[in-house]
Amino acid sequence: MSTRSRRSRPLHAETRLVHDGTLRSEFGETSEALFLTQGHVYTSAEECEARFKGESPGFLYARFSNPTVTMFEQRIASFEGAESARATATGMAAVTAALMGLLQAGDHIVAARALFGSCRYVVAELLPRFGVAATLVDGTDLDAWRKAVRPETKVFFLESPANPTLEIIDIEAVAGIARNAGAKLVVDNVFSSPIWQKPLQLGADCVVYSATKHIDGQGRCLGGVILASEEFIQTHVHTLLRQTGPSMSPFNAWVLLKSLETLPLRVERQTRTAGTVADALAGHAKIPRLIYPGRADHPQADIIARQMTGGSTLLALEIEGGKAGAFRFLNALDLVRISNNLGDAKSLITHPATTTHQRFTAEERADMGVSEGLVRLSVGLEHPDDLIEDLTQALECV
Ligand SMILES: *Cc1c(COP(=O)(O)O)cnc(C)c1O
Repeated sequence: MSTRSRRSRPLHAETRLVHDGTLRSEFGETSEALFLTQGHVYTSAEECEARFKGESPGFLYARFSNPTVTMFEQRIASFEGAESARATATGMAAVTAALMGLLQAGDHIVAARALFGSCRYVVAELLPRFGVAATLVDGTDLDAWRKAVRPETKVFFLESPANPTLEIIDIEAVAGIARNAGAKLVVDNVFSSPIWQKPLQLGADCVVYSATKHIDGQGRCLGGVILASEEFIQTHVHTLLRQTGPSMSPFNAWVLLKSLETLPLRVERQTRTAGTVADALAGHAKIPRLIYPGRADHPQADIIARQMTGGSTLLALEIEGGKAGAFRFLNALDLVRISNNLGDAKSLITHPATTTHQRFTAEERADMGVSEGLVRLSVGLEHPDDLIEDLTQALECV
């Protein structure tokens, strides 16, 4: 923001993640301040009036604006290449607000069926309660998107890579179908993180994140963010958030803001380690199927090469012996911890069928590719040799 500009070219993305959005107070602090305040005081009633009318810049009330939250929003928007961003209390608040902001009774949404469990709830159960019809499609099948379109289709929604199957959807192609249909495309970009994929550049209208995952990256705070053009945010998101209040706490914004500074370092290292782990486990007798977006044997490696600049910090492994085999494997792990979170500095493993996806019927799970033997491994910042040793010894127990 206040950086002097005697530059002939724009700053690189990593540099912007360290500097952009900084609002220095009169004390000139080096590190961004935590403005843990609900509100602000005004020098006069006239100034207060002007601020409420939007005629004078400044902050009003932390439900809709706070300096630390604004720093986080501006920094992530700069990195994502978005004109505008709004932070939310959680990733699910971001997903829900982005979709609710775009839709009203009588509208129709088309979404990929391989979704994070709570996203699928919002699309397939919550929105229909308010008169929004929902169609779930196999997101990898472009014809299925085309066929699902109705005159009242207003939104397309997808995750790629999808949780937990790491299935890939051709974002550029789906964005084209959405545009032809007059629908807005919202992409949940959590799994690739802002580092490896930029859906807005691929034609999406809006990107949402759970900042809880790679952006925090150390398992501390919940958070979410909605990124889009200024016009999109003003038209669809701003008033809904301001009036309904799923706000990010300034404390969480401060943690997440500082986390952005190290995001590329962490995600790049975690991805490199995940690739090493994937190569070490591929072809293991107890793993009939290994899915890793950084390997040439990923079923959609061609799309990955087009739309992602790196692999993933996550692996999906099918463990021999179904649920019993997967449980024996998880229980035998010593270093890798059983947890439903992801993107953490600590390597974490989860059995989706009995956790994140347990509320669905067996049929719905099969539909989403969540088999009984599937486990999702989120690779952390440990040394790859220690992880491979732990995973290999646990596989011997299967
Ligand atoms: C975790 C997650 C969310 C929800 O984020 P919260 O911060 O837990 O609310 C949404 N989408 C995906 C793909 C996720 O992994």
